[in-house]
Amino acid sequence: MTKLQNTRGPMTTAIHAGEAPDPTTGASAPPLHMTSTYVTDQVAGFSAHDIGEESGYLYTRWGNPTVDMFERKMAAMEGMETCLATASGMAAASAIFLTFLSAGDHVVVSDVSYAGVAELARDTLPRLGIEVSLVDMSDLEAVAAAIRDTTKLVHCETPVNPIMRLTDLAAVSRLAHDAGALLSCDATFASPLGQDNAALGVDLVMHSVTKYIGGHGDAVGGIVAGSAELIARLRLEAGIHHGGILSPFNAWLIARGAATLPLRMRAHEAGALQVAHWLETRDSITRVFHPGLPSHPQANLAAKQMSNTSGMISFQVGSAARGQELAQQMIDRLEIIHYAVSLGHHRSLIFWMETDGLMETSFRLSGRNLDSYRAFAGDGIFRLSVGLEDAEDLIADLAKVL
Ligand SMILES: *Cc1c(COP(=O)(O)O)cnc(C)c1O
Repeated sequence: MTKLQNTRGPMTTAIHAGEAPDPTTGASAPPLHMTSTYVTDQVAGFSAHDIGEESGYLYTRWGNPTVDMFERKMAAMEGMETCLATASGMAAASAIFLTFLSAGDHVVVSDVSYAGVAELARDTLPRLGIEVSLVDMSDLEAVAAAIRDTTKLVHCETPVNPIMRLTDLAAVSRLAHDAGALLSCDATFASPLGQDNAALGVDLVMHSVTKYIGGHGDAVGGIVAGSAELIARLRLEAGIHHGGILSPFNAWLIARGAATLPLRMRAHEAGALQVAHWLETRDSITRVFHPGLPSHPQANLAAKQMSNTSGMISFQVGSAARGQELAQQMIDRLEIIHYAVSLGHHRSLIFWMETDGLMETSFRLSGRNLDSYRAFAGDGIFRLSVGLEDAEDLIADLAKVL
């Protein structure tokens, strides 16, 4: 969709958007409304179809003031009209697929994506009669060739988890829109500061807000932002009927994280660049990928599309056996960096991902798609989420094993 005009800067938006002092108490901080239901003075219908703009709150699965505050903040940070908050990032992905696709429709999905999304697309959607093409989204010819008359949605992820390959959003949005399809983008790795999804033609942007947006590793959630029309459909189907809504407590916690996101993303980016440059100097390391490194194979696209290259790094150490051995040493010897899945937190996290294992479970790629994966991941990668600690301390921790 077209980008909404916002005259305020990103830091002011992150802090103030969606919030206002509480009209009854004057509380400056947004209140936490932990309630499932609301006392009403209207005799109203009992279906979600009976609720209108003027209805007020009736039941928290249909709407909650704390969740609304978080949704308004996220919509403003993405420059989109509105937003639906979901129970997790996976609930955001399944909300998009199950709201905008029906039996007989076709969807083009990135052949590499967050493992849960890859497995949902490959295993669940075909069971529901939805045809799925898994495509390397960095290969524009392959995307164009995959699109059919029945294609309703193109779903990409950039930078892609776990290999840091990028999708040219402006180019892919043209291909999708020429075919009358929607473009959805999982921008979890980039965060809302990484790329201007709305201006690049993304119709639906999703995030696992468990990661950078919450930023503190304490709450799971997701969002999908887009036009009022698309999000109204999503809210009715996925929010109210499938029921995977965000708890008000998690909305409140994650909104608190979101307020400092622009500052944190600058620090994540700076720390990651420092660590990535150091990794490139080590003899034990064969390849390092971060979109801000001149050595990234899509460095030009990163420079054009990304305004913050985020804190994610992947690196290779030669063989799978060597990776396995180093992973065990990290578990035993790292003192600051946690050996753990997830990412985007103030604490640094690292995890080893072997290529053969991931191919058997999540991705099952072959031919050209496997070659493209291996060009970024070799026999396996370490995925490092650089947190907000001093980069010198992270480097000293890593130097014990690398
Ligand atoms: C973590 C993640 C998800 C899933 O989010 P949850 O909050 O764990 O359900 C989806 N996409 C990407 C890119 C992720 O990193």
